[in-house]
Amino acid sequence: MASSRADEHRWSLSDFDVGRPLGKGKFGRVYLARERKSNYVVALKILFKSELVQAKVEKQLRREIEIQSHLRHPNILRLYGYFYDAKRVYLILEYAIKGEIYKQLRKCERFPEPRAAQYICQMTHALIYLHRKHVIHRDIKPENLLLGMKGELKIADFGWSVHAPNARRTTLCGTLDYLPPEMVEGRDHNEKVDLWSLGILCYEFLVGVPPFEDPSSYRATYKRIARVDLQFPDYLSADARDLISRLLIYTPEDRLPLSQVLQHPWIQRHNPDAAAP
Ligand code: ATP
Ligand code: MG
Repeated sequence: MASSRADEHRWSLSDFDVGRPLGKGKFGRVYLARERKSNYVVALKILFKSELVQAKVEKQLRREIEIQSHLRHPNILRLYGYFYDAKRVYLILEYAIKGEIYKQLRKCERFPEPRAAQYICQMTHALIYLHRKHVIHRDIKPENLLLGMKGELKIADFGWSVHAPNARRTTLCGTLDYLPPEMVEGRDHNEKVDLWSLGILCYEFLVGVPPFEDPSSYRATYKRIARVDLQFPDYLSADARDLISRLLIYTPEDRLPLSQVLQHPWIQRHNPDAAAP
């Protein structure tokens, strides 16, 4: 599926052979599909208009399409195009052959440090690209990360992403576990929310659960986030703790910038080419 064609061509369901289901989301299902002319394999996400309208997420979907279709990065899932009929909206997505990172994490409970450091390095590269384009993701978590052919990380799901900067964004969105203090407290936020979430992700990859999770209540998690009540298990290396501690900082401006994440000893140790252009 050449991108020039994807940009201009008006797709319809008859362009695809639809195969087995890949998964089911909040809105609709995802199927493996093959574009008939090129034999190109894609993931076709099918959403029901009625459900989108009912949940009042049409605007959000529009934004997701608008943002994701303009992004080109090896660690960001491509959105090749979309089309619709009377009842459904179809998104033509890059197929992430190795599936969800979340499933892999649950399977091995936690990732060895080298593997986690490689994912965090890829994630950092993708975030540098996004922030350069003034896109903040705001919903980084293992459930929204897929894996490509070589096991490379692919950010999917731009449902909560926004173009920054924008004055006041006080809506509470995303999963509480990954939200920074400025968002749980309903204050202004900017692209530095993604630095916090990167720290949470790093912790969850290495420990198996996010740092502020509190099974007792939503309110308890909220309090732990606002206090940055961070505790490390004994097995974590000093380097890994250091990086996480520099990202999970209450004041957004004090969090380690992405360029310095790439230079961090823990990332460098496990990714010899981390800071290469
Ligand atoms: P939602 O986005 O509605 O909050 P979700 O992320 O669980 O929920 P989808 O994005 O619709 O749902 O995807 C459902 C599942 O299908 C995913 O969890 C994943 O297992 C699979 N899937 C989705 N997109 C792809 C893809 N591009 N390649 C491979 N598998 C995919
Ligand atoms: Mg999703």
